[in-house]
Amino acid sequence: MKILVVNAGSSSLKYQLIDMETEKVLAKGGCERIGIPGSLLKAKGNGNEKVYEQDLPNHKVAIELVLHALSDGEIAVIKSMNEIGAVGHRMVASGEYFNKTTLVTPEVLKTLEEKTFELAPLHNPAAATGLRACMEVMPKTPMAIVFDTSFHATMPEKAYLYGIDYEDYKKYGVRKYGFHGTSHKFVSAEAAKYIGKPASALKIVTCHLGNGSSISAVDGGKCIDTTMGFTPLAGVLMGTRSGDIDASAVEFLARKKGLSHADAINYLNKKCGVAGISGVSSDFRDLLAGEEQGNERCALALDMFAYQTKKFVGAYAAAMGGLDCIVFTAGIGENTPTVRADVCEGLEFLGVKFDNKANNENEGRSGGSIREISTKDSKVKVLVIPTNEELVIARETAELL
Ligand code: AMP
Repeated sequence: MKILVVNAGSSSLKYQLIDMETEKVLAKGGCERIGIPGSLLKAKGNGNEKVYEQDLPNHKVAIELVLHALSDGEIAVIKSMNEIGAVGHRMVASGEYFNKTTLVTPEVLKTLEEKTFELAPLHNPAAATGLRACMEVMPKTPMAIVFDTSFHATMPEKAYLYGIDYEDYKKYGVRKYGFHGTSHKFVSAEAAKYIGKPASALKIVTCHLGNGSSISAVDGGKCIDTTMGFTPLAGVLMGTRSGDIDASAVEFLARKKGLSHADAINYLNKKCGVAGISGVSSDFRDLLAGEEQGNERCALALDMFAYQTKKFVGAYAAAMGGLDCIVFTAGIGENTPTVRADVCEGLEFLGVKFDNKANNENEGRSGGSIREISTKDSKVKVLVIPTNEELVIARETAELL
């Protein structure tokens, strides 16, 4: 079976067509600037690449163009749309309404739109627009929704509750949900395979470090805690997000800066993190270059990021009562040896023996294989594992069918 994986944003639509027999990516690409002048589709298939520069006024036209590209000339990988067995859609937030990958029905769509949009107003409505467009263009093809939050549904109440009035939690669903679930699920399962033990026998801390970063405690194959919260704003500081901050400081800052509630949250999401600390960039490559040139605030931003990540590794080792493996993944986790070294420095007391030489042999992100960056006699294995969220979405969709 071939599964189309769709990740729709408000003005973008990324896709991959995956053959589930081989788990090979047959085609991939993305529409950009949907509904904005200058829209285009960059599509790869059959070893070739093609750019379609044409007007994409909405997601329906975009998905029609994607389906056309899948069977177009030198980039064609299928003869007709009927070869696509199902579509898996990435959705950021599920609230407490869905705790696993879900087949789309009219009721599911209604719950999604009525209950979850306010939980992720920037992401869920955009993804649902992509979903509705696919349903219109491919009315007979089953559609599944894979939530970023599902893998975290196993967290116990003591981990996901905030210290607020319990009745308010019940009434409004204000609690930790966690995000990047497909990535944490994928890399923790890959780590278990690599180590050669069942996931049920392992205590793993997975560090998804990218523009958005989250760290999870995976005990026996199940997530028991994670750093992102009610929204992806919580946890370690990120590219432009502040990470954890005292709620009273937010009110104080908003008052001083004359910001509304919404503007204050926007500020914490877009103007803070390593970009705010460094005053230079949200991109770690720029921070590393700045540090090299003696920029102290770039160095401080990098230091804070590694320190906060390290603290969660320690906290989660304590929460699980042990540690067998630390995994680094995503843009920074896969590509930035100095961050990995700084996070692991001083963790010898937990049984980590870091291998600096292996750490510096960077294979880069795409197509890289799993790399062990701890010494052979290290009690805790430290691994770099390229994440593959699209493959998880395709697998979950296939499983559901
Ligand atoms: P992601 O959100 O997973 O795409 O990760 C984006 C982050 O990864 C950005 O901060 C990038 O600077 C960082 N990144 C990507 N490639 C590299 C690289 N080759 N070296 C250092 N950082 C990288």
